[in-house]
Amino acid sequence: MIISITMNPSIDISYPLETLHLDTVNRVINVTKTAGGKGLNVTRVLHQSGADILASGLVGGHFGAFIQEKLSSEGICHHFFMIEGETRNCIAILHQGKQTEILEQGPSITNDEAKGFLSHFDQMIEQASMLTFSGSLPAGLPDDYYKDMIDLCHKKHKLVVLDCSGRALQNALKGQIKPLLIKPNREELAALLGRNVKNTITDLKEALMSPLFDGIEWVVVSLGADGVFAKHYDTFYQVKIPPIEVVNPVGSGDAMLAGLAQALDYKQSDEKVLKHGNVLGMLNAQEKVTGQVNMQNYRVLFDQIQIKKV
Ligand code: ADP
Repeated sequence: MIISITMNPSIDISYPLETLHLDTVNRVINVTKTAGGKGLNVTRVLHQSGADILASGLVGGHFGAFIQEKLSSEGICHHFFMIEGETRNCIAILHQGKQTEILEQGPSITNDEAKGFLSHFDQMIEQASMLTFSGSLPAGLPDDYYKDMIDLCHKKHKLVVLDCSGRALQNALKGQIKPLLIKPNREELAALLGRNVKNTITDLKEALMSPLFDGIEWVVVSLGADGVFAKHYDTFYQVKIPPIEVVNPVGSGDAMLAGLAQALDYKQSDEKVLKHGNVLGMLNAQEKVTGQVNMQNYRVLFDQIQIKKV
């Protein structure tokens, strides 16, 4: 079983408007509210691609209950840790071809809650073979909290695939025990290294040879329409994907992470791991709804992906 962790989930509210009028009333008709946050996108994609999945993380208040109800209604198993604070809302206003976002920071986690989740987590991971950690850490948790979670997984021989950025990522990489895989995009990679990274084989290769990545088995750099550049131990791969008609690429990185985790959990070959991840990323980009993939289009995309050792 794969357990997906979302420490700062949200209710993602979408307000489509013809025009956004500032400093006056805007009335919205077609409101959609979904259980959001990167980890829940991963969860939904894993569920659709047939994985045995359990969603966990922190939820609180009525909005936390809403997230759990939404997952249950989709037939997704979950086992969250309850906190006092209220789970956040994130609002996307879609107007004139643009997307204006209002993102709440979310609840602040107390020390007792931080400890409580770790013991909840420690018990829960017995059932897992693989874990995914996605997204930011909520306020109140120390920047090295993912590192503590990785250490607990290591003690029980559970593998971790990590997708976060900024200080949470920097601190997770400082630990002695490393995640199995990280998936920065090019901007996140540049932020991690403190330098610009060009989209060339030479520059990407040099970037991934940084000592920062020592001990991490897989580093997968997602490059949007340009596919992926990846390092598995000392082997470098350039993955080229076919051009596709993109509807909404938001969450494609999460869909890709789901695919990478699933294929690694099934102990697939490097080629299959990279293809499965890219296909799920592309399938997500072809849908309007974030974290949705139409598996009927799977094979045709899978067969068009080209992988080269570089
Ligand atoms: P992130 O969302 O983390 O920034 P990317 O945008 O790189 O991640 O997307 C992850 C993967 O999803 C890509 O490597 C690719 O397989 C697929 N993908 C994303 N955007 C596109 C696109 N415009 N065209 C084709 N595939 C895409």
